[in-house]
Amino acid sequence: MTYKNWFDAHADKHKIIVNKLLKKNYTKVQMIDYFDFDNMVKNENDFCPLYKENKKCHDIQNLNCYLCACPNFRFDDDGIKQVEENTQYSFCDIESKDGEQGIYADKIHQDCSKCGVPHHRSYVEKNFNLDWKIIMRSCKI
Ligand code: SF4
Repeated sequence: MTYKNWFDAHADKHKIIVNKLLKKNYTKVQMIDYFDFDNMVKNENDFCPLYKENKKCHDIQNLNCYLCACPNFRFDDDGIKQVEENTQYSFCDIESKDGEQGIYADKIHQDCSKCGVPHHRSYVEKNFNLDWKIIMRSCKI
């Protein structure tokens, strides 16, 4: 699956949930509460493949899934640039100290597995918008 395919499919899933909650007149706070990992596993089990195993992507208390993936992620499926003999496909725009560039054969991808930036409630509150694609508007370069 390409980044773009994942991105569009995830945006659609996110929108369906947000629209459902809007019909129930959820406030911003209630909506963020709803996207708490524990609630999402129970009520939106198809939203993330890890939910099937009740597994978190990051070991964070009160992990919030509203901003999965991350507004700081940058990608281009056609390749961003050559780094010696490798092609870079993604990177972190804020150079988070907890992220790193992973090399897989001749491809370089951003590895966010140790970074919890977008999963903290305070970050979600600060960057909140009902439209996930607006929050993520800078990701596809
Ligand atoms: S390293 Fe952290 S801040 Fe950077 S793109 Fe990944 S999750 Fe986001």
